[in-house]
Amino acid sequence: METNNPKPRILIIYTGGTIGMVETPDGLQPFDFSHLMDNVPKVGQLGYDIESVQFPQPIDSSNMNPQYWNRIVKDIADRYEDFDGFVVLHGTDTMAYTASALSFMLRNLTKPVVITGSQLPIGDTREDGTENLISALQVAAAKDENGDPMIQEVVISFQDYIVRGCRSTKFTSTGFHAFKSFNYPDLGTIDLHIEYDRPYLMRHSTVLPLDPFYSMDPNILVLWLYPGITEEVVKSQLATPGIKAVVLRTFGAGNAPTEQWFLTALSEAVGRGLIIFNVTQCLNGGDEQKRYYTGDMLAKAGVISGYDITAEAAVTKLMYLLGSGLSAEEVKHYLTVPMVGEMTVE
Ligand code: ASP
Repeated sequence: METNNPKPRILIIYTGGTIGMVETPDGLQPFDFSHLMDNVPKVGQLGYDIESVQFPQPIDSSNMNPQYWNRIVKDIADRYEDFDGFVVLHGTDTMAYTASALSFMLRNLTKPVVITGSQLPIGDTREDGTENLISALQVAAAKDENGDPMIQEVVISFQDYIVRGCRSTKFTSTGFHAFKSFNYPDLGTIDLHIEYDRPYLMRHSTVLPLDPFYSMDPNILVLWLYPGITEEVVKSQLATPGIKAVVLRTFGAGNAPTEQWFLTALSEAVGRGLIIFNVTQCLNGGDEQKRYYTGDMLAKAGVISGYDITAEAAVTKLMYLLGSGLSAEEVKHYLTVPMVGEMTVE
């Protein structure tokens, strides 16, 4: 994996988002990537070998979807051996979903894939994009004392923190520190120095060829519970044509109503072959389905605990497993097993 070239070689993949946007009479619009490089001459001071590719039409990340994820994965897979690390520039709105999706799709990843963006356009007088881009490049180039990549997984590097991609959540629409990992320690901090929290970094016992995955199955439903949710709403959502799995957003430690119509609706859906994955609405902590009677009733109805997984990782893990051609029993099994560090199972 070590190169003879002393200059780190980094590929930037520009997908769109505020970081590359400019003010127009019609509001903020994505601009050509050359605008970004023109505005960040400091990148040259790093002395890295940097190449870039961009989406033909940069997107606001609210338009992100599995086809665009395929494109990012392909850009990385096609040039995986040519670069030491990859920086993905992305809008913040769905960045945590993309970070989670890429964690599952880039199988056998052992090089850094560092995602960043900004809350203010890089062309603005006051902005956070320049610092985020430079830091992301440095994180993607960092090596440990053995010459191996410091980061060997998908991460988000944003403002002062580096967090595991499949643990990340966007938690503020206005603050510069936009991403948090509520259930797993930060992988590093970015202040005067970039410091890595070594015990929490992903390490691999074997280095296998990258095995990109391109078949995410989006046929899932997210059902958000609230006090007063009606039988009609629950039943009609669970009867949505084509869906194969449901992310059930429950209360607290994975609890839900114990009214008979609700439990019957769930167990009937499970009986029809729907996979139901319990993910708490709380940002911190996770499901303990057996802790309360209400959660235990879900387990009895055939609902699978998501432990402390984020909603973003739950959605993308289901898309990945459903797209993998596994049997329903195999999907259910893998939902209970951490695959890329996305959850903690005690
Ligand atoms: N709407 C923008 C996007 O996600 C916001 C941002 O870039 O921060 O693409």
